[in-house]
Amino acid sequence: MADSLTDPKMAEKLDGLRMTKQRKVVYDVVQELAIDHPTASSVYTKAKEIMPNISLATVYNCLETLTEAGAITQVNLHREASRFCPNLQPHAHFFCAKCDSVFDVNLNEQADASEPWNLPDGSKIQEMNVAMRGLCPNCQDS
Ligand SMILES: [Zn+2]
Ligand SMILES: [Zn+2]
Repeated sequence: MADSLTDPKMAEKLDGLRMTKQRKVVYDVVQELAIDHPTASSVYTKAKEIMPNISLATVYNCLETLTEAGAITQVNLHREASRFCPNLQPHAHFFCAKCDSVFDVNLNEQADASEPWNLPDGSKIQEMNVAMRGLCPNCQDS
């Protein structure tokens, strides 16, 4: 696992955010579980292995602070529990309706995410959340 804090882009994002020990643990866990897009409770389970006395409330707090700072994003679909994602590149999330997995869907090379939408003139996108729901390749096969 690359040390995320040495990534200059991330260092910039986290600049100004006081990186307490707990926040660092929570951030590292989200990075480590990135592929699964962990929920707060799975972050908590993993964080406890590193910091046994961390509380669920602290984990929630850290996740909120990191989300506000733009270091991670919160991913929601319908009423399912929020997931967390440290991938700051433009991407969509695919939710599998059968196995509950969530994975990143990247843009095609050279594609502009704002392009397919009929945006009113003069508007500017600051943030975009695209969620897809369907069957992942594994579930599609079975
Ligand atoms: Zn993601
Ligand atoms: Zn699936």
